[in-house]
Order: sequence, then C-alpha cells, then structure tokens
Amino acid sequence: MSRPGVAILGSTGSIGTQTLEVIAHLGERFHVVALAAGSNLQLLTQQVVKFDPKIVVARAADGVIGGKAVLPTPEGLIRAATHPDVDIVVVATSGHDSIRATWAAIEAGKIVAIANKETIVCAGDLIVPLAAKHNVELRPIDSEHSAIWQCLMTANRTDLARLILTASGGPFLRTSRADMANVSVANALAHPNWSMGAKITIDSATMMNKGLEIIEAHHLFDVPYEQIEVVVHREQIIHSMVEWVDGATIAQLSFPDMRLPIQYALTYPDRVPGPCASLDFQRMSQMSFEELDLDQFPAVGLARRAGIDGKTYPTVLSAADEVAVEAFLNGRIRFVDIPAVVESALAAHAPVEITDLDVIADVDAWARAFARTLIA
Ligand code: MG
Repeated sequence: MSRPGVAILGSTGSIGTQTLEVIAHLGERFHVVALAAGSNLQLLTQQVVKFDPKIVVARAADGVIGGKAVLPTPEGLIRAATHPDVDIVVVATSGHDSIRATWAAIEAGKIVAIANKETIVCAGDLIVPLAAKHNVELRPIDSEHSAIWQCLMTANRTDLARLILTASGGPFLRTSRADMANVSVANALAHPNWSMGAKITIDSATMMNKGLEIIEAHHLFDVPYEQIEVVVHREQIIHSMVEWVDGATIAQLSFPDMRLPIQYALTYPDRVPGPCASLDFQRMSQMSFEELDLDQFPAVGLARRAGIDGKTYPTVLSAADEVAVEAFLNGRIRFVDIPAVVESALAAHAPVEITDLDVIADVDAWARAFARTLIA
C-alpha cells in the first residue's frame, strides 16, 4: 500500500499523541484519515488543524472542530475504524470504548495496531480468533508485547520454551509491605521510567499492569500461562524476551520510549529512522534482574489466576481494578485496597462463557457495580 491511511482511536491520550509525533516525524510515509478523542477538544482541535483528517470523532462534542463536522461516539469510532481510506487502525482509547470499533475494523480487513489492554484481556477469546478468520494482523503497541512480537520472529514457534516479560517494578519495589498501606497518590503517580496516563501508572505501581500483560501475552501469542514468566528489570532497557528450547534467549533492547513500538507497529515489516534515540552501551553501567515478590504485589497473582480460570474472570479483574484505581486516585481507598477490591470481586463472580461482546459488557457492568458498592 502506498502512503497508508491511519485512524487513531484515542488521539489525545498518551499513546495517541505519541502516534501523531511518530507520523509527523515520518513525513510523507503515512497520512491521518481519522482522529477520535474523548473530551479534550482543545488538543483535538490542534490535531485536526495540523493533520487534516477526513473524519473527526469526539465523545463530548457536537458541531464543528477545525472546520470538520464532528461525529459522536460510539458510532463515530466505527466509522473511523472502517473508513475506506484507512489501512491501519491504532487503538489507543482506554477501557472498553473501542472494543466494538476494533471488531468492525477487523471485519473490514484493517491492520489493527493495538495499545488498549482491555480489548485483549476481556475479549481476547473473541477478538484474536476473529482476526485470524479475517487474516488481519494484530500488531501490539505495548512495549513488552512489541518486544515479544519482534523476538518471536527469530525461530519456529514450535521451538518456544517461554516468554519472559520484564517489569520495572514501579515506584514501590523497595517499599516495605507496612509502608505500602500509606503510599500517597502523588508517590504512586511518580513512575521511575515511563510517562503514561494516570490509570496505567497506578496499575504499574500495583503491578496489575504486568498481570494484565500476562493475559494479553497469552492471547496475542497463543502461549500457555505456564510458559509466561515475569522478571523485574529496573532499567527498562530490555522490553521482554523469548527463550527457545535450545536455551537461546532473544531480547529486544531500546530506550524506554513508546514511540519505538508505536513506529514499528506502523512501519512493520520495515524499520525506518524515527524519533527514538539509540542506546549508548558505553554509558550504560548495568542491567539488573530480580525475582518478583508476589506477596508484595498480589495483583500479579490475581491476574494470572483470572487468566488461567478464563471465561469472564479477566473482565471482572479489569473492571474492578479500574473502579478501585479511580477510588484510590480520589482518596477514597488506600493503595493496598486496590488488589483487595479486585480479589473480592473475583471471589464473588459467577463466571460466564464468552459467546459475544454483550456478555463482556454485562459482566463489566456487574463488576463495576460490585466494586463501587464494596468501596462505598
Ligand atoms: Mg507495558
């Protein structure tokens, strides 16, 4: 395809803005066909003026932005994801906003570059087979999954021994369990390596983020849970690894900069010069690795269990976590209550076979209501 057209669902978020940075940096290589945002209309207006998309979508808008008629969500997301000029859909919305639009993009045969975790965690049982059926590539944007995707290209899948997800450990790796109860919102938001949205930053601090990534890896790469491991790697230079049966481990290394996995998801299979700096091994003093303490970070074990138990457990995990994180950010519960709320919701859940997206929406609503009641 010459000069592929890109739709960005979630253009004003962290991944969305960095996707536009990459596209701007790559000049004439891509063109922006659709931009969809939530309520940050000021930034969306700037983006529309700069990138001149055919389709503009906003949750909180009517009328005109930058001279373009604005389509409302959720229909606008589907229009953006299926527009005939779109070749690649970047799914960078949060929560469940874009699951149906992602579904529509796959049915329309678009390449889907996916940053949204919930789509795979909650609907992986449906979305991944749907993509296979339509011969659609799901290209991961999450740094760990991009790394694994790249490492898996180095041998035959039948010779895989294990996936090793790296984890920064977040801001509380050295915090005692007693002190975990009293950590502040500000401290939890101060991630040592990555600049991200508030929800994913708190998920990184509880390490629920890593738990969700285990489930994502299982679905995206069709690897059993017992072959997916996590190792703490403070420096975040290795973004994840693949070990083959002969003992060879292949790792992907780069500066922690989301623009690289975003760019690779856009340019694959090509590699082109982009905005990311190269590593300077002369100045890199060390790379460290340590075992993850599952007692200190119970969210990882909860997520792995939810993934293994399958069905709608991952949806409950994700929904209850979102409610709990929001309550923590609003000062209503303590940091250590986040995994406790999730654990209670999982324990109370009667799992359902996932037959369609409505099942997920219903269970998501149940889990949110349960978590809210528990917190209140
Ligand atoms: Mg990640």
